[in-house]
Amino acid sequence: MSEINTNKPLLEVKGLKKYFSTKRGMLHAVDDVTFTINHGKTLGVVGESGCGKSTTGRSILRLLEPTGGDVIFDGEDVLKLDKEQMRKKRQEMQIIFQDPFSSLNPRKTIAETIAEPMNIHGILKSKDEVDARVLELMDTVGLARRLMNVYPHELDGGRRQRIGIARALSLNPKFIVCDEPVSALDVSIQAQILNLLEDLQEEMGLTYMFITHDLSVVNHFSDDIAVMYLGKLIEKAPADELFAHPTHPYTQALLSAIPEPNIHKKTERILLKGEITSPIEPKPVCRFAQRCNYATDKCRSQEPQLKEISPNHFVSCFLCDNM
Ligand code: SF4
Repeated sequence: MSEINTNKPLLEVKGLKKYFSTKRGMLHAVDDVTFTINHGKTLGVVGESGCGKSTTGRSILRLLEPTGGDVIFDGEDVLKLDKEQMRKKRQEMQIIFQDPFSSLNPRKTIAETIAEPMNIHGILKSKDEVDARVLELMDTVGLARRLMNVYPHELDGGRRQRIGIARALSLNPKFIVCDEPVSALDVSIQAQILNLLEDLQEEMGLTYMFITHDLSVVNHFSDDIAVMYLGKLIEKAPADELFAHPTHPYTQALLSAIPEPNIHKKTERILLKGEITSPIEPKPVCRFAQRCNYATDKCRSQEPQLKEISPNHFVSCFLCDNM
């Protein structure tokens, strides 16, 4: 692996917005989200279903066209690229999907599936070169070569996800959005896939945005963790700091839901009550106010902004006003 500068940002996302037009008005799926990910690092992005984490990942790759903001990748604003330039840029920016089965073509063999991105982008000249690269990728992700001519339905979920990873790696990317890559897998298989992703990152210097609804999955895997709620980034910190000092009431509730392996160290689960605020034409107030035990009139009339409360620990909550 060539030396990478892990203190330098590979990805800078500034004020990213993705709105969808609905009959009832604009749905603010991603609203003014800002973060950076340094070379060779992992940002875990967590939050409930519908919080905008997957939409953020897809907007960065322009699989969904963002409504506003900047996405600077390796010093270049990808939102300014035309279609052809973006197609080339995607070789460096890949995605692994949650459900490997639905993202694979059932009529293509494993070898054909892994070869497809290389053939589309024409990165290798001859069929022999592509075939050799397919076998190399199968070795890299731990797929036995004898499986090259079988079809996705003949494999279990873990092996299907290995195909998805091999496809993503086939174009030699620098950055991969891992969109809930282990959520559809059995717990024992989850660990294998997480270990594989970790090994690949070390060997290839990959940078990950790891999206999950399950904080326990990203715990040992992420350098930083960003928590999203209803389209907003509400807390971001180095992983150890976030687990030691969760500050936003929503992060505290998420953490309290993680099962504690030590039965002598019981933590009380914080149950969230109240309606989830509509993301359609949201008012400039705290979007968590209807479910927050600490909500005040200020929370229901003003919108908190992200504030750095300790080095690299950002929180969007009025409770931090005096910190
Ligand atoms: Fe709760 Fe108010 Fe903080 Fe929002 S700003 S999380 S409602 S205390």
